[in-house]
Amino acid sequence: MILVTGGAGFIGANFVLDWLAEIGEPVVNLDKLTYAGNRENLARLADDRRHCFVQGDIGDAALLDTLLATHRPRAIINFAAESHVDRSIRGPEAFIQTNIVGTFRLLDAVRDYWSGLEGTERGAFRFLHVSTDEVYGSLAPEAPAFTEQHRFEPNSPYSASKAASDHLVRAYHHTYGLPVLTTNCSNNYGPYQFPEKLIPLVITNALAGKPLPIYGDGQQVRDWLYVEDHCRAIRRVLEAGCPGETYNVGGWSERTNLDIVQQLCTLLDELRPRPDGRSYQEQLTFVADRPGHDRRYAIDATRIATELGWRPAETLASGLRKTVEWYLANPDWVAHVQSGAYRHWVREHYEAS
Ligand code: NAD
Repeated sequence: MILVTGGAGFIGANFVLDWLAEIGEPVVNLDKLTYAGNRENLARLADDRRHCFVQGDIGDAALLDTLLATHRPRAIINFAAESHVDRSIRGPEAFIQTNIVGTFRLLDAVRDYWSGLEGTERGAFRFLHVSTDEVYGSLAPEAPAFTEQHRFEPNSPYSASKAASDHLVRAYHHTYGLPVLTTNCSNNYGPYQFPEKLIPLVITNALAGKPLPIYGDGQQVRDWLYVEDHCRAIRRVLEAGCPGETYNVGGWSERTNLDIVQQLCTLLDELRPRPDGRSYQEQLTFVADRPGHDRRYAIDATRIATELGWRPAETLASGLRKTVEWYLANPDWVAHVQSGAYRHWVREHYEAS
């Protein structure tokens, strides 16, 4: 049994689906169901007894104690977070509460639980914290990519709150010996991503005939990784990572935001041509830049590749194609997210029955 937090969000849901398909070990999934949590992402598991969903907050110490005592997980994977930089600029409070205070409460409950384990159970236990490359701050154009040794220089309330949580995780290892692992990953994309993030926003706006917003000059550089490759990396680190260590995860796919949007337009032109036969590129619209927008992130994933043998299976081209195909094949999911109907989905599919 493993405990996953935030498993109704984008990466967490992909992880739970992938885990049950590949490993098959039961999962307790603790998620608060904020705007970003969507149980429709887990619709395939509706009748799957290996998946136990619990709506709740990682900051709820009493709930955590009960869950840990009842299910006795051998590992915890912490995805739960407020994750959108723009929202953190408009309202940082929730980011402090969940990403910092929530992670602290979770660590503290887990420390208590782990202290009570004995023998092989105690030795095999792991707490894996899922984090971001944004904790390292912004890179100059020619600077080498972030290694695990790069110092933390977070620039947004989001990245600062994640950096704080990474430090807490590290401290719980150093101070109490809790067997933790941390992964710092670059930008993910793929199925079930909430369309406030660049790639699903562009796909869904393009199809709706809306503008495709590009911040500033569109020359901000990000490294991109297909979400299933991230899920495999997490599984690998959980299985073979060294407690107390951090592992950078990236796709060796640095691109400017403008380049990503243009590639998406080209794919959409091929897979779902506009009725007027013109390119989706006509919908590109440059908008005022995000305050404090980091210019470049780049991940050096040499460590996980050499020590743990992980490499991404998808190229950027193949991953983007799969992603566009998924959004084209799932118009109901997109419509429910856009209309807010996904919030009622759980009532209709679980509580009514
Ligand atoms: P997301 O916003 O799609 O999902 C977050 C999930 O956490 C949601 O289901 C939400 O309901 C849940 N949640 C939020 N607050 C909670 C709380 N207090 N208690 C319990 N559940 C709560 O995020 P995502 O993109 O899937 O990211 C997951 C994790 O991966 C985050 O920690 C994020 O920092 C990290 N990460 C994301 C990316 C990326 O590109 N999306 C890249 C690297 C790392």
